[in-house]
Amino acid sequence: MTDFAATRAMFHLPPGIVYLDGNSLGPLPLKALERVNQTMRGEWGDMLITAWNRAGWIDMPRRIGDRIGALIGAEPGHVVMGDTLSIKVYQAVASALDLRPGRRVILSDTGNFPSDLYMAQGLAHTLANGCRLQTVAPEEVEEALDEEVAVLLLTEVDYRTGRRHDMAALTAAAHRKGILTVWDLAHSAGALPVDLAGAGADFAVGCTYKYLNSGPGGPAFIYVAPRHAEHARPALSGWLGHEAPFAFAPDYRPGPGIERMRVGTPPILQLAALDAALDIWDQVDMNALRKRAIALSEQLIDGVESACPELALASPRAAERRGSQVSFRFENGHAAMQACIAEGLIGDFRAPDIMRFGITPLYIDETDVARAIDILARVMREKLWQRPEHQTRAAVT
Ligand SMILES: *Cc1c(COP(=O)(O)O)cnc(C)c1O
Repeated sequence: MTDFAATRAMFHLPPGIVYLDGNSLGPLPLKALERVNQTMRGEWGDMLITAWNRAGWIDMPRRIGDRIGALIGAEPGHVVMGDTLSIKVYQAVASALDLRPGRRVILSDTGNFPSDLYMAQGLAHTLANGCRLQTVAPEEVEEALDEEVAVLLLTEVDYRTGRRHDMAALTAAAHRKGILTVWDLAHSAGALPVDLAGAGADFAVGCTYKYLNSGPGGPAFIYVAPRHAEHARPALSGWLGHEAPFAFAPDYRPGPGIERMRVGTPPILQLAALDAALDIWDQVDMNALRKRAIALSEQLIDGVESACPELALASPRAAERRGSQVSFRFENGHAAMQACIAEGLIGDFRAPDIMRFGITPLYIDETDVARAIDILARVMREKLWQRPEHQTRAAVT
């Protein structure tokens, strides 16, 4: 049994706010404050450079990688932390392409997050060997798998609609055609049960500042399946991925297994925050979390469908086909979300017309969802989105 009242008490949640945006930026875990303070004063402050050894900084990317690995069904020793998700997408796709010489297509879907597509395009341009990115509609991925495709690059849960791909089935279909898979778990890790080893995934990547609550700019993770770990060539051959970084040899030799996916100096303060945030998961059963997320999502969908006829559900209606978010389409979605935020309900907006709400049982409950429905209903009924102050767009939506 997971005590969700106890996990909720572990976060700083500003009073009067219903926070349904943990799928973009998780809230502050109280222990992260303490841990970062301790890392700054006790380690950086007092140990100075000796902390790389004495406080174990140098091993943090691997040690914390294993903690994440436990949440996503990875074999121990096959996940490492570092850089940002965009960078890890680049690395994973480059390594996978390299393992499929002679094939030229990176296949993805049109619902994928733009940065994943941009990184694949940039990589193809740099390789300049005829390699290209091809995208198809999410429902058409399986039939687009053929012998030209080297890599299938998919985000399991669509950032706009919350639609979820069947990771095991698509991985098996890809493998039948000799294709390697790169799964982006940005909206899966900490959101729902993931079984990378069971699904036979080749590579996986994800970020930690969404459902894993590491804070803005928290480091990303990368997984390489054991069968590829000693063959994958890291495109970004930085010194900390070298076999012997402190030999300072002039030529690159990849480090053992997942170590080679490290690039440069890890962000120790962000890793400290993440390490503290991950303590919360020690007492969480992922199946219980998923069950509760579905119940809260159903509550939100039912409430909005009866109170806000203007909003059209953009997420799949069947719970098992959704990730841990609920999205609605509304023509004036941006202004409506601004009005919700002004009333104390924080979600976010994704162009062109999606109002998106993250469902995160670690710190939201039925009372929050009921309040969210009330606020949305009032914004729509009183047309609060028409107010002039909600008509402008800031840099971040
Ligand atoms: C959030 C997200 C990103 C963001 O990448 P960063 O490099 O961390 O900014 C990339 N891909 C997907 C699928 C995402 O959801």
